[in-house]
Amino acid sequence: MHEMTLAAGVVTEVERCLGDFKPGASVVSVTLQVGKLRAVVPDALTFCFEVVSQGTPVEGARLIIEQIPVRVRCAPCASEWTVTEVEFMCPVCEGPVEVLQGKELLLRAIEIDDGTE
Ligand SMILES: [Zn+2]
Repeated sequence: MHEMTLAAGVVTEVERCLGDFKPGASVVSVTLQVGKLRAVVPDALTFCFEVVSQGTPVEGARLIIEQIPVRVRCAPCASEWTVTEVEFMCPVCEGPVEVLQGKELLLRAIEIDDGTE
């Protein structure tokens, strides 16, 4: 289950960022952008995140997962499109395609409550 490894990485990274804030600051939410080619199951990732963050300053934070669709481009004819089924051949010229997006895994935002308004 690679969601557990992923969740552990996210919690570690958020904890590191939290080190820049004063003690007592808490994490409200964490936004992740995950490309669909990563084959991450959002529910599984959310579950793992809750498990891994227990007992850390990240505990209680809401995990927001933004899925990024897979976009590809055909090398020979430069057609670009978003794929729903994974197909790696261009429907226009049957040329090979390159993946433009869909492999992302980005920690996009961390919302922190440092106790001051
Ligand atoms: Zn093509």
